[in-house]
Amino acid sequence: MAQFAASASATLPFKAGASLTSKQWRNLAPGSSLRKFGVYFTAHRKNCQGKGFRVVASGAMRTAGGTVEITESESSSNMYFWSDKKRPRVCILGGGFGGLYTALRLESLIWPDGKRPQVLLVDQSERFVFKPMLYELLSGEVEAWEIAPRFSDLIMNTGIRFLQDRVKLLTPLDHLGIIGPTGSSCSGTVQLESGLIIEYDWLVLALGAQSKLDIVPGAAEFALPFSTYEDACKVEEKLMTLERQNFGKDNLIRVAIVGCGYSGVELAATISERLQEKGVVQAINVETTICPTAPTGNREVATKVLSSRKVELLLGYFVRSIRSSVGTSSSENESEKFILELQPSQRGLQSQILEADIVLWTVGSKPPLPELGPSDWPNELPLTSCGQAETDETLRMKGHPRIFAIGDSSAFRDSQGRPLPATAQVAFQQADFAGWNIWAAINDRPLLPFRFQNLGEMMTLGRNDAAITPSFIEGLTLEGPAGHAARKLAYLIRLPTDEHRLKVGISWLAKSAVDTVASLQSALTKVLSSS
Ligand SMILES: Cc1cc2nc3c(=O)[nH]c(=O)nc-3n(C[C@H](O)[C@H](O)[C@H](O)COP(=O)(O)OP(=O)(O)OC[C@H]3O[C@@H](n4cnc5c(N)ncnc54)[C@H](O)[C@@H]3O)c2cc1C
Repeated sequence: MAQFAASASATLPFKAGASLTSKQWRNLAPGSSLRKFGVYFTAHRKNCQGKGFRVVASGAMRTAGGTVEITESESSSNMYFWSDKKRPRVCILGGGFGGLYTALRLESLIWPDGKRPQVLLVDQSERFVFKPMLYELLSGEVEAWEIAPRFSDLIMNTGIRFLQDRVKLLTPLDHLGIIGPTGSSCSGTVQLESGLIIEYDWLVLALGAQSKLDIVPGAAEFALPFSTYEDACKVEEKLMTLERQNFGKDNLIRVAIVGCGYSGVELAATISERLQEKGVVQAINVETTICPTAPTGNREVATKVLSSRKVELLLGYFVRSIRSSVGTSSSENESEKFILELQPSQRGLQSQILEADIVLWTVGSKPPLPELGPSDWPNELPLTSCGQAETDETLRMKGHPRIFAIGDSSAFRDSQGRPLPATAQVAFQQADFAGWNIWAAINDRPLLPFRFQNLGEMMTLGRNDAAITPSFIEGLTLEGPAGHAARKLAYLIRLPTDEHRLKVGISWLAKSAVDTVASLQSALTKVLSSS
């Protein structure tokens, strides 16, 4: 815990001519006090807001077990203490495909002496989540540790530090032109929910996107989103409860899925396979087709699989409202049902009312970008109408040379001016460029323009089914068990660290060996019993 000392000091080299009043200094770094021009930040505990925060250090700084817990009472400072005063400080907000992979990329690069940056990764969750495989938690194909490993485990043998906390306020300074050339010089501060304040030289904004449920009345109260690990756990819990309640009864479990983009369709395929004849899955889409932006091959395979599993598609409808049957039900013992009011978006269709035991919401998202901290300076972040950070082609936020914005919370346009989709594939590739460009900026080298390489699209359609359309083989769509195996292999390769990849690879191999033996046994039993 020694690295989190009682107070911190930092010097901010400014361009000649920039002079600040003490009030302005306080606004740059709330909780700091100016002792003389040259600047010492002294932390004040009274600014902490009563919440503990959790820091995980790695490598040489780790204590036994690797996790350092710091509570408010143990901490006497609300300034994050960087252990090295000279090396550049890179703060990464969000530990998903964009943030975690940028941290790992920075770690893997070769740095000249004294230039290797100190990297701090901040995430509200203790786990990295490999979102494309969240469905497999519902099908029972994977275990939580495989697709949602703890950050503390992933960074164990690296120099990256991890802090579990929620990002609240951002006070950038880099747009004011008062930072030093490329060396270590404070470019702004980030304030976390615990009250902790982090000064940074380079910032990576990679906070992803969160579900937007406030689109129709009742969705926020009665529908379950499916975007985070916690969401997936809630859906699993609800399905298990319904399965238990209906065990041995004739009642069907009714599942309504709002949205038939990739997420809605993958959920429909996974849940219909799980429930089989015990349930009915209905999927609603405002468009008249499923996965409208998907390659034709993927859409055709998905349509075939959903139809074989008797998923009811309600296409050309939007959900007007969702309410609960509790209070309107004639029997008090009846479990809660949800009523969805559907309105046609196309001519010739009639309004409909659906009843469901569980409603899953897969439509709409918004980036959770932090609010700007109070400042005497003109301070604004360039955002699109959807609230995503606008970047230039080197992935730096427009007008902010020290902030890189990547993944779902950023908007990058390709050479034709089209925004790139919010996918793991984009975030993953951007992380590679962001890491490299931070290296280039610190080492006074030219930054590279980001170029997205579309590798194709994949979707899971159940325990042994998937659709894959690679972009590099015209007209090919892999489906069924071959597609399923190829998708799993592609994702295994993309898992964050060599160590994690190895552990998961062994685990999946062992499971597939057990599955093969089990299916051989059942085939043998069938043959023997019929002879
Ligand atoms: C169910 C599902 C399936 C998907 N399937 C695919 C697929 O098959 N292929 C594909 O390419 N893409 C897929 N995606 C999209 C893909 O997962 C995202 O595009 C990708 O995760 C974006 O990466 P990111 O780093 O921008 O955000 P994320 O990976 O979402 O990471 C953001 C991180 O920021 C943290 N965070 C957010 N707010 C705060 C805060 N205020 N303070 C601190 N931390 C915060 C979050 O906890 C999270 O760890 C899927 C998404 C979902 C939800």
